Amino acid sequence: MAKTHGALPTPHRDFKLHQRLLKLPDLHYYDVYPPMISSDRRCTVEQSAALTLDAVKPLGSEVPTLSQAALAARSMHVCPPPGKESDAYQTAVYGLTRFVPLNHEDSFESLTTFAHEWGHGLHTMLANHALPPETASYSLFVAEIALMTK
Ligand SMILES: [Zn+2]
Repeated sequence: MAKTHGALPTPHRDFKLHQRLLKLPDLHYYDVYPPMISSDRRCTVEQSAALTLDAVKPLGSEVPTLSQAALAARSMHVCPPPGKESDAYQTAVYGLTRFVPLNHEDSFESLTTFAHEWGHGLHTMLANHALPPETASYSLFVAEIALMTK
């Protein structure tokens, strides 16, 4: 718990930045969801994959290897056809490669969604590698803690 409390200045700094950029007198939790910047940067699915792989390199050799294997398994659906659910998520079946349905529209927002969802996939794969099925699952709250940067 002390370790968790020690890390609180980082999200607090992020909350203050949201408040300042959005010019809000008071910040509520829902205020952290609007984008802080607008970007017309374009990013293809392939670029999103390459940037995501680069971003996980500092996490050790196992993480990029797992990420590369998951991405090579073509275990996602990225096209936004009419009628497809607008949400992005990852499915988890113990011991299997994650499946990530998302709607990649070659935007910067698509890149961050791609990286966020594959972050969940990595979390699940690492948990499955380290823990037996009866203890490998985790709550949504725990899942989103490591991914607050979306
Ligand atoms: Zn998430």
